[in-house]
Amino acid sequence: MALLEAGTLDALNQHIQQELASGHEYLAASAHFSMTGMEGMATWMRHQADEERAHAMRFYDHVLQRDGAVRLYDIPAPPQEYADALDVFRQALEREERTTRHINKLYEFAVEHKDFALKIFLQWFIEEQVREEDSLRNILQRLELIGDDKAALVMLDRDLGQREAPGAA
Ligand code: MG
Repeated sequence: MALLEAGTLDALNQHIQQELASGHEYLAASAHFSMTGMEGMATWMRHQADEERAHAMRFYDHVLQRDGAVRLYDIPAPPQEYADALDVFRQALEREERTTRHINKLYEFAVEHKDFALKIFLQWFIEEQVREEDSLRNILQRLELIGDDKAALVMLDRDLGQREAPGAA
């Protein structure tokens, strides 16, 4: 008997693609910020891109450890242009909300099929999504307060540039 139920395996493989696509989008955002003189935000986005790839690899490893077949899918091209920093972070929050919905769906599969190993595996991701959404909402709040104040925007850029690379802390 397969260790992973067929529908669950399919959803896990789709989730690998979702995390890789997130990484791709954060990388595009990092390039955008580098090209517009916001090196701190570029650093923040680049670290986030690395984190998303690490998330994808955790799902990838879980599928293999459960004797499942990994399937990799096309990664859509990320946005090429953004209006401003607020636009970039708003899109990032929407993306994380989509990721949260995906993970919740996976958890539903785990409950439905009494897949206890998957439930435990997903627990870290459920907590991680709370942290991801919270940090993006905090940045968005600051950007909304900043408005057109360029000096304040430069300060926020400097703050976000302090973010450490994943695994560095
Ligand atoms: Mg992620």
